[in-house]
Amino acid sequence: MPDQFVDLHCHSTASDGTLAPAEVVQLARRNGLSALALTDHDTIGGISEAADEAAKSGLDFLPGIEISCECSPGTMHLLGYGVDPESTVLRDLTRRLIEARDDRNPRIIRKLNELNVAITMAEVEAESGGGVVGRPHIAAILLRKGYVSSIKQAFDKYLGTSGAAYFDKERIPPREAFDLIHRSGGLPVLAHPVQLRTGNDGELARIIKDCVDLGLIGLEVIHSDHNAELVDKYSALAEKFGLLKTGGSDFHGSNKKDIDLGIANGRRVPREWFDALVERAGREKNLAHKP
Ligand code: AMP
Ligand code: ZN
Ligand code: FE
Ligand code: FE
Repeated sequence: MPDQFVDLHCHSTASDGTLAPAEVVQLARRNGLSALALTDHDTIGGISEAADEAAKSGLDFLPGIEISCECSPGTMHLLGYGVDPESTVLRDLTRRLIEARDDRNPRIIRKLNELNVAITMAEVEAESGGGVVGRPHIAAILLRKGYVSSIKQAFDKYLGTSGAAYFDKERIPPREAFDLIHRSGGLPVLAHPVQLRTGNDGELARIIKDCVDLGLIGLEVIHSDHNAELVDKYSALAEKFGLLKTGGSDFHGSNKKDIDLGIANGRRVPREWFDALVERAGREKNLAHKP
């Protein structure tokens, strides 16, 4: 039954997705999901619209955020589930993360201009619709103007780590990200472990162990970048470290055309994983309120 399925990782126009928060919720409904967590990069700007639409359409909803941390050589993304949208800690954090983007994005544009690509920051801001500006917005413009023939090519040629106009943004150390998610009332979950690009399983287990020591409560087992072998591996690691399993598509609308909401590389995410996360969030809140 489709009602048994959920999606715990997706993006809206509040960051670099192409559907408005309410539209993501409507699509979740159409795709037969019973619950959703919105996890925009560095912002909770889409949460209230999504929560209102979810309440209207009878979809269970969990607020979330996705934060990039310092971790070389790969990428460490932390999901924060159940964060309190009113939290001042969260507001300070998101402001700082957006400042780091505001510092990086004009550098990318300047470099592209040097490479004879005609693109302006004003166009990029228009593309983002006033939300958090990410590289997929720049990629969409490069595609529309014919400089590349796909979003993938925009990353390969210009925006990705090996691209000619690559600039990293300042990231926060994992310790700080865990602490800030906790203080915002959220539960930290390690997103798409495959993107850590660890050399071997020992190194992966060591990073997860370090994260557990910092307060990690879950591992994203199902994700669009995870094949069957990886799903099995991360599932075993979650069990080994006593972590909750989570999963999501990492839906971005037409910025990632091949990903549909609710389906991650052919897999669906079981409803029980959402329920366990909500149950855990409730338990932590009760603990926090104890005198
Ligand atoms: P930013 O947050 O601005 O650094 O951009 C990160 C976004 O770019 C995330 O949504 C990634 O999934 C997306 N991204 C990173 N590398 C690629 C790639 N090679 N192809 C398509 N999207 C990518
Ligand atoms: Zn994104
Ligand atoms: Fe991510
Ligand atoms: Fe994501």
